[in-house]
Amino acid sequence: MSSNVASRQVLVLPGDGIGPEIVAQAERVLARVNDKFALGINIEKGLVGGAAIDAHGSPLPEITLEKAKACDAVLLGAVGGPKWDSVDMSIRPEKGLLGLRSNLNLFGNLRPAILYPQLADASSLKPELVAGLDLLIVRELTGGIYFGQPRGIRELENGEREGFNTYKYSESEVRRIGRQAFEAAQKRGGKLCSVDKANVLEATVLWREVMDELAKDYPDVELTHMYVDNAAMQLVRAPKQFDVMVTGNMFGDILSDCAAMLTGSIGMLPSASLDENGKGMYEPIHGSAPDIAGQGIANPLATILSVAMMLRYSFDEADAAQAIEDAVGVTLDQGFRTADIQSEGMNLVSTEQMG
Ligand code: ATP
Ligand code: MG
Repeated sequence: MSSNVASRQVLVLPGDGIGPEIVAQAERVLARVNDKFALGINIEKGLVGGAAIDAHGSPLPEITLEKAKACDAVLLGAVGGPKWDSVDMSIRPEKGLLGLRSNLNLFGNLRPAILYPQLADASSLKPELVAGLDLLIVRELTGGIYFGQPRGIRELENGEREGFNTYKYSESEVRRIGRQAFEAAQKRGGKLCSVDKANVLEATVLWREVMDELAKDYPDVELTHMYVDNAAMQLVRAPKQFDVMVTGNMFGDILSDCAAMLTGSIGMLPSASLDENGKGMYEPIHGSAPDIAGQGIANPLATILSVAMMLRYSFDEADAAQAIEDAVGVTLDQGFRTADIQSEGMNLVSTEQMG
Protein backbone atom coordinates (compact mmCIF):
# COMPACT_ATOMS: atom_id res chain seq x y z
CA MET A 1 0.00 0.00 0.00
CA SER A 2 2.46 2.66 1.07
CA SER A 3 4.62 3.92 -1.72
CA ASN A 4 8.17 5.12 -1.70
CA VAL A 5 8.22 8.33 0.33
CA ALA A 6 10.59 9.98 -2.14
CA SER A 7 8.21 9.60 -5.05
CA ARG A 8 4.74 10.32 -3.76
CA GLN A 9 2.84 12.06 -6.51
CA VAL A 10 -0.66 13.51 -6.20
CA LEU A 11 -2.60 14.76 -9.20
CA VAL A 12 -5.09 17.49 -8.36
CA LEU A 13 -8.03 17.90 -10.74
CA PRO A 14 -10.21 20.82 -9.55
CA GLY A 15 -12.88 20.34 -12.24
CA ASP A 16 -15.96 22.55 -12.58
CA GLY A 17 -18.47 24.58 -10.58
CA ILE A 18 -17.49 24.73 -6.92
CA GLY A 19 -14.68 22.23 -7.67
CA PRO A 20 -11.85 24.79 -7.86
CA GLU A 21 -13.07 26.61 -4.72
CA ILE A 22 -13.27 23.55 -2.50
CA VAL A 23 -10.12 21.94 -3.90
CA ALA A 24 -8.14 25.11 -3.16
CA GLN A 25 -8.97 24.67 0.53
CA ALA A 26 -8.20 20.94 0.47
CA GLU A 27 -4.82 21.76 -1.07
CA ARG A 28 -4.05 24.14 1.79
CA VAL A 29 -4.79 21.35 4.25
CA LEU A 30 -2.73 18.85 2.28
CA ALA A 31 0.21 21.28 2.14
CA ARG A 32 0.00 21.75 5.90
CA VAL A 33 -0.01 18.05 6.84
CA ASN A 34 2.61 17.37 4.16
CA ASP A 35 4.96 19.72 6.04
CA LYS A 36 3.94 18.73 9.52
CA PHE A 37 4.20 14.95 8.98
CA ALA A 38 7.02 15.13 6.37
CA LEU A 39 4.96 13.11 3.91
CA GLY A 40 7.05 13.97 0.84
CA ILE A 41 4.04 14.49 -1.39
CA ASN A 42 4.43 16.39 -4.67
CA ILE A 43 1.41 18.00 -6.25
CA GLU A 44 0.67 18.31 -9.92
CA LYS A 45 -2.40 19.92 -11.52
CA GLY A 46 -4.56 18.86 -14.41
CA LEU A 47 -7.81 19.52 -16.24
CA VAL A 48 -10.83 17.24 -16.38
CA GLY A 49 -14.54 17.62 -17.17
CA GLY A 50 -15.97 20.86 -18.52
CA ALA A 51 -12.75 22.76 -17.83
CA ALA A 52 -10.91 20.26 -20.06
CA ILE A 53 -13.58 20.47 -22.77
CA ASP A 54 -13.09 24.23 -22.86
CA ALA A 55 -9.30 23.98 -23.03
CA HIS A 56 -8.75 20.82 -25.09
CA GLY A 57 -12.12 19.79 -26.54
CA SER A 58 -12.18 16.59 -24.49
CA PRO A 59 -13.39 15.82 -20.92
CA LEU A 60 -10.35 13.57 -20.39
CA PRO A 61 -7.40 14.86 -22.44
CA GLU A 62 -4.50 12.52 -23.13
CA ILE A 63 -2.17 14.64 -20.98
CA THR A 64 -4.51 14.33 -17.97
CA LEU A 65 -4.82 10.59 -18.42
CA GLU A 66 -1.04 10.23 -18.65
CA LYS A 67 -0.55 12.20 -15.43
CA ALA A 68 -3.30 10.17 -13.73
CA LYS A 69 -1.64 6.89 -14.70
CA ALA A 70 1.75 8.09 -13.46
CA CYS A 71 0.66 9.43 -10.06
CA ASP A 72 -0.09 7.58 -6.79
CA ALA A 73 -3.38 9.30 -6.04
CA VAL A 74 -5.82 11.71 -7.65
CA LEU A 75 -7.73 14.41 -5.78
CA LEU A 76 -10.81 15.49 -7.71
CA GLY A 77 -13.25 18.34 -7.08
CA ALA A 78 -16.37 17.79 -9.16
CA VAL A 79 -17.29 17.90 -12.84
CA GLY A 80 -20.21 19.12 -14.91
CA GLY A 81 -22.63 22.00 -15.08
CA PRO A 82 -25.31 23.56 -17.27
CA LYS A 83 -22.68 25.15 -19.54
CA TRP A 84 -21.87 21.73 -21.04
CA ASP A 85 -25.39 20.22 -20.96
CA SER A 86 -25.98 20.66 -24.66
CA VAL A 87 -22.74 19.16 -25.96
CA ASP A 88 -22.93 15.70 -27.50
CA MET A 89 -23.00 12.72 -25.10
CA SER A 90 -19.48 11.54 -25.96
CA ILE A 91 -17.93 14.77 -24.71
CA ARG A 92 -20.00 15.25 -21.56
CA PRO A 93 -17.91 16.32 -18.51
CA GLU A 94 -19.03 13.16 -16.64
CA LYS A 95 -17.21 11.07 -19.28
CA GLY A 96 -13.99 12.40 -17.81
CA LEU A 97 -14.80 10.81 -14.48
CA LEU A 98 -15.92 7.48 -15.95
CA GLY A 99 -12.83 7.42 -18.18
CA LEU A 100 -10.55 7.89 -15.18
CA ARG A 101 -12.28 5.12 -13.23
CA SER A 102 -12.03 2.58 -16.03
CA ASN A 103 -8.53 3.52 -17.22
CA LEU A 104 -7.14 3.38 -13.69
CA ASN A 105 -9.08 0.17 -12.94
CA LEU A 106 -10.64 1.65 -9.81
CA PHE A 107 -12.94 -1.24 -8.93
CA GLY A 108 -13.47 -0.49 -5.24
CA ASN A 109 -15.57 2.43 -4.09
CA LEU A 110 -15.30 3.40 -0.42
CA ARG A 111 -18.07 5.66 0.85
CA PRO A 112 -18.09 6.57 4.53
CA ALA A 113 -21.27 7.89 6.09
CA ILE A 114 -20.23 9.88 9.11
CA LEU A 115 -22.46 12.16 11.11
CA TYR A 116 -20.39 14.40 13.32
CA PRO A 117 -22.27 14.62 16.62
CA GLN A 118 -22.16 18.44 16.30
CA LEU A 119 -24.39 18.16 13.22
CA ALA A 120 -26.89 15.58 14.46
CA ASP A 121 -29.75 18.06 14.02
CA ALA A 122 -29.02 18.19 10.25
CA SER A 123 -30.41 14.68 9.81
CA SER A 124 -34.11 14.15 9.44
CA LEU A 125 -33.79 11.11 11.70
CA LYS A 126 -33.93 11.09 15.48
CA PRO A 127 -30.56 12.32 16.83
CA GLU A 128 -30.13 9.26 19.06
CA LEU A 129 -30.32 7.04 15.96
CA VAL A 130 -27.64 8.86 13.97
CA ALA A 131 -25.50 11.09 16.23
CA GLY A 132 -21.94 9.79 15.97
CA LEU A 133 -22.81 7.49 13.06
CA ASP A 134 -19.60 6.25 11.40
CA LEU A 135 -19.95 3.51 8.82
CA LEU A 136 -18.18 2.66 5.59
CA ILE A 137 -19.76 1.13 2.50
CA VAL A 138 -17.41 -0.69 0.14
CA ARG A 139 -19.07 -0.96 -3.27
CA GLU A 140 -17.79 -2.97 -6.24
CA LEU A 141 -17.65 -0.42 -9.04
CA THR A 142 -16.66 -2.02 -12.34
CA GLY A 143 -18.62 -5.29 -12.52
CA GLY A 144 -21.97 -6.80 -11.68
CA ILE A 145 -25.25 -6.07 -13.41
CA TYR A 146 -24.15 -2.59 -14.56
CA PHE A 147 -21.57 -4.14 -16.88
CA GLY A 148 -22.61 -7.79 -17.33
CA GLN A 149 -23.06 -9.18 -20.85
CA PRO A 150 -25.39 -10.06 -22.52
CA ARG A 151 -27.59 -7.03 -22.07
CA GLY A 152 -30.06 -5.10 -24.16
CA ILE A 153 -33.62 -4.97 -25.41
CA ARG A 154 -34.70 -7.75 -27.77
CA GLU A 155 -37.79 -8.79 -29.65
CA LEU A 156 -39.49 -11.99 -28.53
CA GLU A 157 -41.19 -14.51 -30.81
CA ASN A 158 -44.61 -13.22 -29.79
CA GLY A 159 -43.61 -9.76 -31.03
CA GLU A 160 -43.27 -8.00 -27.69
CA ARG A 161 -39.94 -6.61 -26.50
CA GLU A 162 -37.93 -7.76 -23.48
CA GLY A 163 -35.27 -5.84 -21.60
CA PHE A 164 -32.49 -7.89 -20.02
CA ASN A 165 -29.26 -7.54 -18.04
CA THR A 166 -26.83 -10.01 -16.57
CA TYR A 167 -25.81 -10.13 -12.93
CA LYS A 168 -22.46 -11.86 -12.63
CA TYR A 169 -19.29 -11.80 -10.60
CA SER A 170 -16.27 -14.07 -11.06
CA GLU A 171 -14.50 -15.44 -7.99
CA SER A 172 -11.51 -13.18 -8.64
CA GLU A 173 -13.73 -10.11 -8.88
CA VAL A 174 -15.34 -10.95 -5.54
CA ARG A 175 -12.01 -11.75 -3.98
CA ARG A 176 -10.38 -8.43 -4.85
CA ILE A 177 -13.27 -6.30 -3.58
CA GLY A 178 -13.51 -8.60 -0.55
CA ARG A 179 -9.84 -8.02 0.27
CA GLN A 180 -10.32 -4.25 0.12
CA ALA A 181 -13.28 -4.53 2.47
CA PHE A 182 -11.54 -6.83 4.96
CA GLU A 183 -8.50 -4.54 4.97
CA ALA A 184 -10.69 -1.49 5.53
CA ALA A 185 -12.41 -3.33 8.41
CA GLN A 186 -9.01 -4.10 9.93
CA LYS A 187 -8.20 -0.38 9.87
CA ARG A 188 -11.53 0.42 11.54
CA GLY A 189 -13.71 -1.44 14.03
CA GLY A 190 -13.04 -5.00 12.81
CA LYS A 191 -16.64 -5.73 11.75
CA LEU A 192 -17.64 -6.50 8.17
CA CYS A 193 -21.17 -7.12 6.90
CA SER A 194 -21.42 -8.58 3.40
CA VAL A 195 -24.69 -7.72 1.67
CA ASP A 196 -26.20 -10.03 -0.95
CA LYS A 197 -29.43 -11.64 -2.10
CA ALA A 198 -28.26 -15.23 -1.75
CA ASN A 199 -31.80 -16.50 -1.17
CA VAL A 200 -32.69 -15.56 -4.77
CA LEU A 201 -29.59 -14.83 -6.90
CA GLU A 202 -27.02 -17.57 -7.60
CA ALA A 203 -24.37 -14.95 -8.41
CA THR A 204 -24.59 -13.82 -4.82
CA VAL A 205 -24.47 -17.37 -3.45
CA LEU A 206 -20.97 -17.53 -4.94
CA TRP A 207 -20.27 -14.03 -3.59
CA ARG A 208 -21.12 -15.28 -0.09
CA GLU A 209 -18.95 -18.40 -0.45
CA VAL A 210 -15.92 -16.35 -1.51
CA MET A 211 -16.41 -13.91 1.38
CA ASP A 212 -16.51 -16.85 3.81
CA GLU A 213 -13.28 -18.25 2.33
CA LEU A 214 -11.57 -14.85 2.60
CA ALA A 215 -12.63 -14.52 6.23
CA LYS A 216 -10.11 -17.25 7.11
CA ASP A 217 -7.30 -14.87 6.07
CA TYR A 218 -8.63 -12.14 8.36
CA PRO A 219 -9.23 -13.75 11.75
CA ASP A 220 -9.30 -10.31 13.38
CA VAL A 221 -12.37 -9.30 11.36
CA GLU A 222 -15.84 -10.52 12.28
CA LEU A 223 -17.78 -11.30 9.07
CA THR A 224 -21.59 -11.39 8.93
CA HIS A 225 -23.99 -11.66 5.98
CA MET A 226 -27.23 -9.83 5.35
CA TYR A 227 -29.80 -9.86 2.54
CA VAL A 228 -30.02 -6.51 0.79
CA ASP A 229 -33.66 -5.88 1.66
CA ASN A 230 -32.94 -6.39 5.34
CA ALA A 231 -29.77 -4.28 5.04
CA ALA A 232 -31.78 -1.36 3.65
CA MET A 233 -34.24 -1.68 6.50
CA GLN A 234 -31.52 -1.97 9.14
CA LEU A 235 -29.68 1.07 7.70
CA VAL A 236 -32.71 3.22 8.32
CA ARG A 237 -33.80 1.52 11.56
CA ALA A 238 -30.48 1.25 13.43
CA PRO A 239 -27.53 2.36 11.27
CA LYS A 240 -25.03 2.42 14.12
CA GLN A 241 -24.97 -1.40 14.19
CA PHE A 242 -22.73 -1.29 11.08
CA ASP A 243 -18.98 -0.71 10.80
CA VAL A 244 -18.02 -1.75 7.24
CA MET A 245 -20.47 -3.08 4.64
CA VAL A 246 -19.33 -4.69 1.37
CA THR A 247 -21.59 -5.30 -1.59
CA GLY A 248 -21.89 -5.42 -5.38
CA ASN A 249 -22.29 -2.56 -7.78
CA MET A 250 -26.06 -2.09 -7.84
CA PHE A 251 -26.80 -2.82 -4.17
CA GLY A 252 -23.89 -0.55 -3.24
CA ASP A 253 -25.15 2.26 -5.44
CA ILE A 254 -28.50 2.23 -3.65
CA LEU A 255 -27.27 1.58 -0.11
CA SER A 256 -24.52 4.20 -0.24
CA ASP A 257 -26.91 6.97 -1.28
CA CYS A 258 -29.29 5.84 1.44
CA ALA A 259 -26.50 5.89 4.04
CA ALA A 260 -25.30 9.32 2.87
CA MET A 261 -28.73 10.81 3.37
CA LEU A 262 -28.89 9.46 6.93
CA THR A 263 -26.30 12.10 7.71
CA GLY A 264 -28.23 14.90 6.01
CA SER A 265 -25.03 16.73 5.10
CA ILE A 266 -23.96 16.24 1.50
CA GLY A 267 -21.15 18.79 1.90
CA MET A 268 -19.42 16.63 4.53
CA LEU A 269 -18.98 13.26 2.83
CA PRO A 270 -15.76 12.08 1.12
CA SER A 271 -15.18 9.03 -1.07
CA ALA A 272 -12.37 6.91 -2.44
CA SER A 273 -12.12 4.71 -5.53
CA LEU A 274 -9.24 2.24 -5.33
CA ASP A 275 -7.38 -0.18 -7.54
CA GLU A 276 -5.69 -3.42 -6.48
CA ASN A 277 -2.53 -1.71 -5.24
CA GLY A 278 -4.06 1.08 -3.20
CA LYS A 279 -3.80 3.71 -5.89
CA GLY A 280 -6.91 5.81 -5.67
CA MET A 281 -9.05 8.68 -6.75
CA TYR A 282 -10.53 10.76 -3.94
CA GLU A 283 -13.49 13.10 -4.26
CA PRO A 284 -16.47 14.48 -2.37
CA ILE A 285 -19.71 12.56 -2.99
CA HIS A 286 -21.49 15.76 -3.99
CA GLY A 287 -21.52 17.27 -7.47
CA SER A 288 -20.30 20.57 -8.87
CA ALA A 289 -23.23 22.49 -7.31
CA PRO A 290 -23.56 25.05 -10.12
CA ASP A 291 -26.29 26.82 -8.13
CA ILE A 292 -23.73 28.11 -5.60
CA ALA A 293 -20.52 28.13 -7.70
CA GLY A 294 -18.42 31.29 -7.57
CA GLN A 295 -20.05 32.60 -4.40
CA GLY A 296 -17.42 31.39 -1.95
CA ILE A 297 -20.02 29.67 0.23
CA ALA A 298 -19.54 25.96 -0.63
CA ASN A 299 -18.55 23.58 2.14
CA PRO A 300 -14.97 22.35 1.52
CA LEU A 301 -15.05 19.69 4.27
CA ALA A 302 -16.05 16.75 2.04
CA THR A 303 -13.00 17.47 -0.11
CA ILE A 304 -10.75 18.04 2.90
CA LEU A 305 -11.95 14.71 4.35
CA SER A 306 -11.21 13.12 0.96
CA VAL A 307 -7.58 14.17 1.50
CA ALA A 308 -7.68 12.33 4.83
CA MET A 309 -8.92 9.20 3.03
CA MET A 310 -6.10 9.56 0.52
CA LEU A 311 -3.51 9.64 3.28
CA ARG A 312 -5.07 6.61 4.95
CA TYR A 313 -5.73 4.38 1.93
CA SER A 314 -3.09 5.31 -0.67
CA PHE A 315 -0.22 6.35 1.60
CA ASP A 316 -0.85 4.39 4.82
CA GLU A 317 -0.44 7.60 6.85
CA ALA A 318 -3.08 6.98 9.48
CA ASP A 319 -1.75 9.65 11.88
CA ALA A 320 -1.83 12.41 9.30
CA ALA A 321 -5.32 11.30 8.20
CA GLN A 322 -6.51 11.31 11.79
CA ALA A 323 -5.06 14.78 12.32
CA ILE A 324 -7.24 16.13 9.51
CA GLU A 325 -10.35 14.35 10.80
CA ASP A 326 -9.70 15.62 14.33
CA ALA A 327 -9.23 19.16 13.01
CA VAL A 328 -12.63 18.97 11.32
CA GLY A 329 -14.16 17.90 14.63
CA VAL A 330 -12.46 20.75 16.51
CA THR A 331 -13.58 23.29 13.90
CA LEU A 332 -17.19 22.12 14.26
CA ASP A 333 -16.84 22.15 18.06
CA GLN A 334 -15.78 25.79 17.81
CA GLY A 335 -19.07 26.53 16.06
CA PHE A 336 -17.83 27.30 12.54
CA ARG A 337 -20.40 26.42 9.85
CA THR A 338 -20.74 26.97 6.12
CA ALA A 339 -24.26 27.83 4.95
CA ASP A 340 -25.27 24.23 4.13
CA ILE A 341 -24.71 23.08 7.74
CA GLN A 342 -25.56 26.35 9.47
CA SER A 343 -27.83 26.26 12.49
CA GLU A 344 -28.95 28.76 15.08
CA GLY A 345 -26.23 30.39 17.17
CA MET A 346 -23.38 29.07 15.02
CA ASN A 347 -20.68 31.12 13.32
CA LEU A 348 -21.37 31.35 9.56
CA VAL A 349 -18.13 31.26 7.53
CA SER A 350 -17.06 31.24 3.89
CA THR A 351 -15.41 28.39 1.97
CA GLU A 352 -12.01 29.96 2.52
CA GLN A 353 -12.54 30.62 6.23
CA MET A 354 -13.63 27.02 6.71
CA GLY A 355 -10.44 25.90 4.96
P1 ATP B 1 -24.29 15.51 -9.71
O1 ATP B 1 -25.23 15.21 -10.80
O2 ATP B 1 -22.97 16.02 -10.16
O3 ATP B 1 -24.20 14.43 -8.67
P2 ATP B 1 -26.32 16.82 -8.28
O4 ATP B 1 -27.31 17.40 -9.22
O5 ATP B 1 -26.63 15.53 -7.63
O6 ATP B 1 -24.91 16.77 -8.98
P3 ATP B 1 -24.93 18.47 -6.38
O7 ATP B 1 -24.03 19.24 -7.28
O8 ATP B 1 -24.32 17.43 -5.53
O9 ATP B 1 -26.13 17.91 -7.20
O10 ATP B 1 -25.75 19.47 -5.48
C1 ATP B 1 -26.97 19.12 -4.86
C2 ATP B 1 -27.35 20.25 -3.89
O11 ATP B 1 -26.45 20.23 -2.78
C3 ATP B 1 -27.24 21.63 -4.52
O12 ATP B 1 -28.26 22.46 -4.03
C4 ATP B 1 -25.90 22.12 -4.06
O13 ATP B 1 -25.82 23.50 -3.94
C5 ATP B 1 -25.74 21.44 -2.69
N1 ATP B 1 -24.31 21.17 -2.43
C6 ATP B 1 -23.57 20.21 -3.03
N2 ATP B 1 -22.32 20.24 -2.59
C7 ATP B 1 -22.23 21.23 -1.68
C8 ATP B 1 -21.18 21.78 -0.87
N3 ATP B 1 -19.93 21.30 -0.90
N4 ATP B 1 -21.47 22.82 -0.07
C9 ATP B 1 -22.70 23.32 -0.01
N5 ATP B 1 -23.74 22.87 -0.74
C10 ATP B 1 -23.52 21.84 -1.58
MG1 MG C 1 -26.10 13.44 -7.97
